[in-house]
Amino acid sequence: MLTAEQREIRDLARDFVEGEIAPRAAAWDRDRAFAPQVLANLAELGFLGMLTPPEYGGLGFDAPTYLVALEEIARGDAALALTVAIQNGPVPHILLAHGSEAQKSRWLPALASGEKIAGFALSEAEAGSDPSGMSTRACAEEGEGVWTISGSKKWVTNGSRADMVIVFARTGSAGSRPPIGAFLVDTDARGYRVGKREKTMGLRASETVAVDLEGVRVGTERLVGDPGRGLGYALGALDLGRLGIGAQAVGIAQAAMEHAARYARERRQFGRPIADFGAIRSNLAIMATRIAASRALAMEGAAAWEARGSEDREGLPVTARSAMAKLLASETAMWVTEEAVRIFGGYGFMREFPVERLMRDAKGTEIYEGTSEILRLVIGRAVTRSP
Ligand SMILES: Cc1cc2nc3c(=O)[nH]c(=O)nc-3n(C[C@H](O)[C@H](O)[C@H](O)COP(=O)(O)OP(=O)(O)OC[C@H]3O[C@@H](n4cnc5c(N)ncnc54)[C@H](O)[C@@H]3O)c2cc1C
Repeated sequence: MLTAEQREIRDLARDFVEGEIAPRAAAWDRDRAFAPQVLANLAELGFLGMLTPPEYGGLGFDAPTYLVALEEIARGDAALALTVAIQNGPVPHILLAHGSEAQKSRWLPALASGEKIAGFALSEAEAGSDPSGMSTRACAEEGEGVWTISGSKKWVTNGSRADMVIVFARTGSAGSRPPIGAFLVDTDARGYRVGKREKTMGLRASETVAVDLEGVRVGTERLVGDPGRGLGYALGALDLGRLGIGAQAVGIAQAAMEHAARYARERRQFGRPIADFGAIRSNLAIMATRIAASRALAMEGAAAWEARGSEDREGLPVTARSAMAKLLASETAMWVTEEAVRIFGGYGFMREFPVERLMRDAKGTEIYEGTSEILRLVIGRAVTRSP
């Protein structure tokens, strides 16, 4: 159940999405870009700083309330929701949890107001599911208070739109898995080059780019927290990020189910609306049930995020909870969108109808911020650990 405040926020987000986002999603997908103004409009509503405390210019929502708004945005356009999720989730969380006061005061208000758009550069060509295998290096220049970062990152969302990217890089060379640090890098820094933009199956309005760092020099004030704990910061932030992707997936699935239910009422075969056929109705019933279960698990994960540090009823850590939320929601989104395409029949396969786009978008949610296999590993590890 939603609180009165959450209902209000859902309605605000829904009105905005129905007026400004959903009617343009197909064109954004076709043009591979959403209108930049939409980010400014979302910022005006506070939706680029939902979890950021008011003293840093944000709305100070708790995680469940954030998911309510994010699901609505994804229901309108999943590509835009991905940008919104990165801007609200992992990047500000790392600053809030590990940044210095100067870093928080400088970046959090700029991110919440939309003045700066953020990216998160963890993956590399040879280090995706296992980011500890990254080869990007950051070398401290003795006595100069400067780090020099060199390497290549892959699949950076918002990559060419971003003003600041958190770059993860090895800060030492000891052992087989040297320490990793997190750096706040301006995208106009000398040596920061946005490379190839990927042609993606879905989420086509979202920019997924390669980034080359060729001797990018940043001051020590750009290092977040401990130079050896950046990977831990990234993985901790992914607990929140995965809840956001869970909400994104629920939004995609909800949109697909609504389109399918509407179509089933309108489309007539054998002299009746196809919604009158038991097979179609039963399919819609299972869609609705799986979506409700995914949403509930995501909200439970968000509650666990708020209570992180204390164990929940089943003794599971928040890492497992958020992995469960993303696993169920993303696989549900894939299944529901495929069924929606089926209900649309031949029209479902056509670009003029929305469900094929939703099916392409859903696939992405099963991959980024942890593939389904990795999420199962995370959950399995928590379930089988000794008490
Ligand atoms: C649209 C999009 C946006 C993205 N945005 C970002 C971003 O903003 N920032 C960023 O840093 N990254 C981003 N990524 C990268 C994404 O996080 C990685 O693609 C993902 O983590 C998987 O890594 P990989 O592609 O290298 O696959 P791999 O790790 O090579 O995996 C290949 C296959 O092997 C499986 N596998 C791997 N290890 C195991 C194991 N131990 N057990 C069982 N199966 C395993 C995987 O599940 C997968 O099926 C994005 C990706 C996409 C598609």
